[in-house]
Amino acid sequence: MKHYDIIIIGSGIAGISLGSILSKERKVAIIEKEKQLSYHSTGRSFAFFIESYGNNAIIELTKISKKFFYDNFNLFLKKKGVMFIGNNKQKTIVEDFYNEHKHKVKLELFSKNETIKLANCLNEDYINNSVIDINASEIDVNNLYEYYRKQYNKNDGLILTDFNINLVEYKNNKWILNNEISSDIIVNASGAWADEVAKLFKIKPVNVVPKIRTVFVFKPQNIKIDNNCPLVADIEEKFYFKDQNDQIYASPADETPSYPHDCHPDDLDIAIGIDRIQKATKFKFNHIDNKWSGLRTFVKDKSPVIGYENSNKNFFWLVAQGGYGIQTSPALAEISANIILNKKNDFLIDNSTLNNISIKRIRNEIL
Ligand SMILES: Cc1cc2nc3c(=O)[nH]c(=O)nc-3n(C[C@H](O)[C@H](O)[C@H](O)COP(=O)(O)OP(=O)(O)OC[C@H]3O[C@@H](n4cnc5c(N)ncnc54)[C@H](O)[C@@H]3O)c2cc1C
Repeated sequence: MKHYDIIIIGSGIAGISLGSILSKERKVAIIEKEKQLSYHSTGRSFAFFIESYGNNAIIELTKISKKFFYDNFNLFLKKKGVMFIGNNKQKTIVEDFYNEHKHKVKLELFSKNETIKLANCLNEDYINNSVIDINASEIDVNNLYEYYRKQYNKNDGLILTDFNINLVEYKNNKWILNNEISSDIIVNASGAWADEVAKLFKIKPVNVVPKIRTVFVFKPQNIKIDNNCPLVADIEEKFYFKDQNDQIYASPADETPSYPHDCHPDDLDIAIGIDRIQKATKFKFNHIDNKWSGLRTFVKDKSPVIGYENSNKNFFWLVAQGGYGIQTSPALAEISANIILNKKNDFLIDNSTLNNISIKRIRNEIL
């Protein structure tokens, strides 16, 4: 039987980013139940890096990740900006968003005319104002994943695909899977399957809720796409869209609670998205070219869950990254690796962040 210091369950961005660091100092295996890598959430994202997105814990994790992304800017990021738009009824919501975030992130408040000048596809009768975050960028998720994977390979990390866990045993302080491989430490990086995997190891669930998000792609008949418009997002996240490769990639920003599975888009969600986008823009189109959906997995407070399960010190959680798991992957991987390798996480800007993302808050163990 092959023994590893650490077995990571799940080869998504969470598993591979953590594996790329741990494998420098430990013998690591990643196991993946699918035949192909990046098949679930990681391969289905909208691929954006937005510093003003998410709760305070996410904003800090994104800030920490920024250094990693900016050190390799041309490899991973393409600056595009994001414009959070409001209609007449949402005017004050836009202003409140600006006032709440302007001290944390570089933002500008735009009038109707300034908004339309930057995104001339918008419907003038609909728009009132907007907030611009000019540093928001598209992430090349493929390049990012390959970067982590190459590091991992260089350090002799192993990936076993098509690996289904049928039997879990715990003997002599070692986890044994399928009588085939064993490890001192298990990392649960299984995305939407987080609680199902925990059950296999007889660990209490953290009650993740995978929520479906849909994306559809179309080519407007009436407007030429110049691929220079910022990402446009409704200030209340009821829809968003971006131009890319002469097409529009759009989402109704659905958040339908679901269960871990290989999800597919629902026609009703696409119809809702089309309706919202047609009201806000001048786009005319009569068919869509592509569509998919994926799971964004949350716990109740919408922050990630990391750290050792208290009752079983060698079972580590790295789950519940929600809709931010790509942009926060450098920070979450580094923080998790430091905990596993008994190193300090002294680069954290705000000390409360560790508590806010720790498994301990879920178990009510924070004093
Ligand atoms: C439509 C959409 C848009 C998004 N947009 C963005 C965005 O713009 N920016 C951003 O930062 N994030 C975005 N996200 C979120 C981001 O994609 C996720 O947070 C991230 O991919 C989660 O990574 P993961 O590795 O935890 O999960 P996954 O990529 O789902 O990986 C988990 C892996 O674990 C495997 N697994 C599960 N159970 C087992 C088992 N028993 N044994 C072995 N393997 C197992 C699964 O097969 C899977 O491959 C978006 C998500 C969606 C769906």
